[in-house]
Amino acid sequence: MSIIVYIEHIEGAIKKTSLEAASYASALAEQQGVDAKGVVLGTVSEDQLASVGTAGLSTVYHVNDDQLNAGVIQAHAEAVAQAFEKAGADTLILAKSSLGDAVAARLAVKLDAGYISNVVALPSTSGTYTVKRSIYTGKAFAESEITKTNKILGVKKNAVPLKTDGAPASVEALEVNLSEGAFAAKITSIDKANDEIPLPEADIVVSGGRGMKGPENWNLIEDLAKALGAATGCSKPVSDSGWRPHHEHVGQTGVKVAPTLYVAVGISGAIQHLAGVNASKYIVVINKDPEAPFFKAADYGIVGDAFEVLPKLTEAIKAV
Ligand code: FAD
Repeated sequence: MSIIVYIEHIEGAIKKTSLEAASYASALAEQQGVDAKGVVLGTVSEDQLASVGTAGLSTVYHVNDDQLNAGVIQAHAEAVAQAFEKAGADTLILAKSSLGDAVAARLAVKLDAGYISNVVALPSTSGTYTVKRSIYTGKAFAESEITKTNKILGVKKNAVPLKTDGAPASVEALEVNLSEGAFAAKITSIDKANDEIPLPEADIVVSGGRGMKGPENWNLIEDLAKALGAATGCSKPVSDSGWRPHHEHVGQTGVKVAPTLYVAVGISGAIQHLAGVNASKYIVVINKDPEAPFFKAADYGIVGDAFEVLPKLTEAIKAV
């Protein structure tokens, strides 16, 4: 038996979360003494395909069908199921993402597989097949068991080490037969609101709260974000007040982010906001109130006035 990894890309660029999933798969393959392959759907360059090998995959199946570029869920599920069969796999690894979740749910039915999402460690090596996963937006861990032969594991972002020293993967074209229903519902065009980095995918996020006083001061958040190559976010009251667009609202009722670095400026750290940022690897909080609850969740904190700290921080980062 072997392992196959469903690898996502954005307009041809392989997603970092998928490389993490591939790294996890390669560690799992080593643990179990089996082989791990990847499957990529849609238009992707040979270089990008081969780069998946750095995360430890020997071979990548490429389904080069531009109809698959838009992430049509049913079609992706059918194509991945065929790659799974072709690889003779019993385990599918993917990155926890909105597309990954949707595809995994369909594949769990199609492959009669057990599915565990938000996985943070390799399965147990003795006894039952149990896997540690993150629950309650990262506040606790649970051990979950799969009793089926086929298994699907969704790897949590930023939770497993990224392997970067593997050799380029060999690319194998894969033809799949997609049913008529595969494209019954499909995206026909995408209008991007802007060219900014999408929040859920961003590796760095700079977020502002009510402490920024008003939309006229957002240039300070944007300047820091630009210097860091970050996306911008905000707290709920900020978007509710129309200072920022709703798609930037981070938290329990907004976007859940999982960047390597989350910088929170003038945000108190209410539990509903933290629910959207708990998966961040490092959190930096800038707040003038040393008692602000956010400091308890922070890796680094700056107690100070955002209007003094932000320009200095931005200048310092630009100077590096
Ligand atoms: P405030 O709580 O007003 O905090 C402002 C902070 O800025 C304070 O800590 C203050 O010390 C600091 N500050 C002020 N001036 C400065 C300065 N000059 N320099 C530095 N710091 C300064 N909120 C979300 O964000 N996301 C959600 O998804 C969400 N969902 C919710 C769902 C429900 C059902 C409910 C009831 C609430 C939800 N909320 C959510 C709201 C949440 O409870 C908080 O009210 C909100 O997060 C507070 O936003 P804030 O931190 O920007 O504002």
